[in-house]
Amino acid sequence: LVQLYLPLNFLGAVYREIRQSLTDLESMFRLLREPAEIKDAPDAGALEVYGGEIRFEDVRFGYDPDRQILGGVSFSVPAGRTLAIVGASGAGKSTISRLLFRFYEVGSGAIRIDGQDIRAVTQDSLRAAIGIVPQDTVLFNDTIRYNIAYGRPVAGPDEIEEAARLARIHDFVVSLPQGYDTRVGERGLKLSGGEKQRVAIARTILKRPAILIFDEATSALDTQTEKEIQVSLREVSRNRTTLIIAHRLSTVVDADEILVLDRGQVIERGRHAALLAADGRYAQMWRRQQEAGDLKQRLAETRERQ
Ligand code: ATP
Repeated sequence: LVQLYLPLNFLGAVYREIRQSLTDLESMFRLLREPAEIKDAPDAGALEVYGGEIRFEDVRFGYDPDRQILGGVSFSVPAGRTLAIVGASGAGKSTISRLLFRFYEVGSGAIRIDGQDIRAVTQDSLRAAIGIVPQDTVLFNDTIRYNIAYGRPVAGPDEIEEAARLARIHDFVVSLPQGYDTRVGERGLKLSGGEKQRVAIARTILKRPAILIFDEATSALDTQTEKEIQVSLREVSRNRTTLIIAHRLSTVVDADEILVLDRGQVIERGRHAALLAADGRYAQMWRRQQEAGDLKQRLAETRERQ
């Protein structure tokens, strides 16, 4: 049996190694594959960021030429303000953030940051100005400290801790036996979706970009985690132009403007109260989420009583 066990054990280790390499490769490709198709203009200069105003001007786009995904989207986010995009799954919300990051080129129309067409500036300077908190953060197989400091490798321990505090992850980290030296990722401690997202927020706080894209997780979070994420999101979006791709309407209540996207078109826009008063699609979505929330609450109460 020992003779059989040892090779199997060895194979297990090899399998884990390969799987991990694939995870690393996958995240690398996710970063490298798409931008590689887009080239900087020969005379491209660095993006000059003043306040980080974003402007979409009649943007049309399709991943395939015969299937339009965005059909003429226009909006502007003044420097330091927050725009939230809501809409059914597949409406084109994430596509907007991918175009802003220039993973893809617009079909027609233009995207400008502080007045400069993003096609006219270098991709490096564009991406340095934007911080993304993705739905699902891939962590490096390294310590929590390393994973946070990745936002700005020269950051000192105090700055890292301060970012973690603002992102509401510090207390959790110091509760671990090895604190900031705890190894995470595939080979280390597995963090929950909410914890990973807070590590990403801390990373972005350190990076200090003028523009922030927050892609809210679709997966359900418990009420406490959801609240903590929202508090840390408020922190990171302060004084920063912010684009929120929202799935829970509770996240967008305070946004300066909300866009309701439907099959690549903006069908409503305004602030929360005005959209509720208009009693259109947004109000309908809000009522539906409230009802779902009430139901969840009632179920939890029933379970507690049993
Ligand atoms: P969700 O709320 O589910 O995240 P979304 O509103 O963010 O949805 P997008 O991810 O922007 O939607 O996708 C819009 C449409 O574009 C979808 O129909 C999707 O199938 C299509 N799409 C997205 N990515 C690609 C791609 N890489 N190639 C081809 N089609 C794509």
